[in-house]
Amino acid sequence: MALVVQKFGGTSVATAERIMAAARRAIRARQAGYHVVVVVSARGDTTDELIALAHEITDRPPSRELDMLLATGEQVSIALMAMAIQALGHPAISFTGAQIGIVTDSFHTRARIKNISTRRLRQALAEGNIAIVAGFQGVNDNFDITTLGRGGSDTTAVALAAVLKHDPAGPFPEVDCEIYTDVDGVYTTDPRLVPEARKIPAISYDEMLELASLGAGVMHSRSIEFAKKYDVPIHVRSSFTDAEGTWIVPETAWMHQVPVCGLAMVRDEARVHLAGVPDLPGVSHRIFSALADAHLVVDMIAQNVGSAGRAEIGFTVLQSDLSQALTILEPLAREWGASLTYEERLCKVSLVGAGMKTHTGVAQRVFQVLGDAGINIRMITTSPIKISLLVDRDLGVTALRLIHRAFRLHEPRPGEQEWNTIKADILTPRRTVPAPLFGTAGLLSSMEDIIVSDIALEDTHGRITLQDLPDRPGVCAHIFSAIAAAGIVVDMIVQNPKGQGFAELSFTVPRENLEHAWHIARRALQEIHPSGRAIADPDIATVAVEGVGMRSHSGVARRMFGALAQQGINIEMISTSEIRVEVVVERRHAQAALECLRRAFSRQSVCA
Ligand code: ASP
Ligand code: MG
Repeated sequence: MALVVQKFGGTSVATAERIMAAARRAIRARQAGYHVVVVVSARGDTTDELIALAHEITDRPPSRELDMLLATGEQVSIALMAMAIQALGHPAISFTGAQIGIVTDSFHTRARIKNISTRRLRQALAEGNIAIVAGFQGVNDNFDITTLGRGGSDTTAVALAAVLKHDPAGPFPEVDCEIYTDVDGVYTTDPRLVPEARKIPAISYDEMLELASLGAGVMHSRSIEFAKKYDVPIHVRSSFTDAEGTWIVPETAWMHQVPVCGLAMVRDEARVHLAGVPDLPGVSHRIFSALADAHLVVDMIAQNVGSAGRAEIGFTVLQSDLSQALTILEPLAREWGASLTYEERLCKVSLVGAGMKTHTGVAQRVFQVLGDAGINIRMITTSPIKISLLVDRDLGVTALRLIHRAFRLHEPRPGEQEWNTIKADILTPRRTVPAPLFGTAGLLSSMEDIIVSDIALEDTHGRITLQDLPDRPGVCAHIFSAIAAAGIVVDMIVQNPKGQGFAELSFTVPRENLEHAWHIARRALQEIHPSGRAIADPDIATVAVEGVGMRSHSGVARRMFGALAQQGINIEMISTSEIRVEVVVERRHAQAALECLRRAFSRQSVCA
């Protein structure tokens, strides 16, 4: 029998009336012949209220007790939902995370799922019940209650769908996963900020993963990791209507017809800058492993090309993690005699699209739009399917609107019609899906372990570095429109401010275009800053670790930088995203870098 996991978010269970409506929906699915598992969040603003309550007692609620408290929100919802379904005449039974055997690690308030036992759930379903499960919570090996991080009920829902789909005790090959929420799908960007944003009918796992982790609030990004790893298509839709929402599915060709599918913004970012760190192997590793030890997710990372044995590293963290990051880095900065500075009130705007892999000139268009509007871009990082820009917080929404317009995201995406014709095929259960969970080849010690799908070496590009780039609006637009006019395709871009009104900009281009690009870039730079210096370096190579959850599992970068450090290989540029962490190294180290990364990631599951 087919099975559906229906997840209802906080607003969908906020009142008794809405709980009854959700209950009726679950019953309809049961009557249509599905086994039904319902996952619920805490009602309305309960979780926020509980956090506020804890802070009335103490400034620093111990995280174990905070989890104990927060988990009660979902417990209220499951009991009410079970009562509602029973009142409508259908058998139902509620379970906490612990009862259903959701076992996590012990990182309170941000725990990761290790495994889920399906025994109790299967039994409840076999007895004809609709099973109601509390989202967002689990237990560690000591039976202490843990929570999965804000928004974590999505992750519970998709994880349950994944585990049931591949259950060795008898898989449910036909598993649907529906996320019911107060919006009717995933939009090109937040419609509250950009009213002309449009609903996207379908989006790929990778695009959604990037968007969710770059600030699109619709879905918890870890839930999309599960969806991709275990191939669980998700339908995000409104709990108030029966209209189709957005399907999150494997990537297909029509998605490449446009370069950009959506935009996301993170409003509260802070930038940390370390200047004068030794330009030696192992330095990045020490910085980022210290941060990873505290489970801090580092966001945009930009490393300037070293000179006179010293390098500069800038990165962003969430504003709320800033003070912890500074505390961790102070002793390191002291040891190196480096200066540690930071900047607040920044926001990150990101463009995402699988089509970026094949469309050129995307970065140049964005720079032009912002340059024309007089918006200064503080920092830039790119990946194959995203561009992230750091701007002043007050200018974030303006930037978002301008970019949305410039890429015509208010219009239907070409190829959308095609989706309707291929949809049935894509959603047809593929009974032979590989089971990454339990298969002999892909046995994961823990469900949220990282899967690294590839270690890639690219030895085709050279790098241009512009030092002393005036840090003001329009400069990037000027440089990259000159490069684009020459038909040169730019790959990775990193820009990092270095203080005193200057920034450093590096980008890679195909080696055969390097000299040409260098002439153009130097001329363009000198038009705005006569003594500006441009350096071309043909002898670089890029090594990348690809997979799912590469950025939010801070352990990936740590392992990567650690392996290179041990090998004595200096990292010259870094770019991170959810699907890929890539670094530039000296070309003579390319092969050694590839081999040491292959060794480091040879056990397919890696790190929490
Ligand atoms: N109740 C939790 C929160 O508000 C989990 C969730 O809603 O997904 O973050
Ligand atoms: Mg929620």
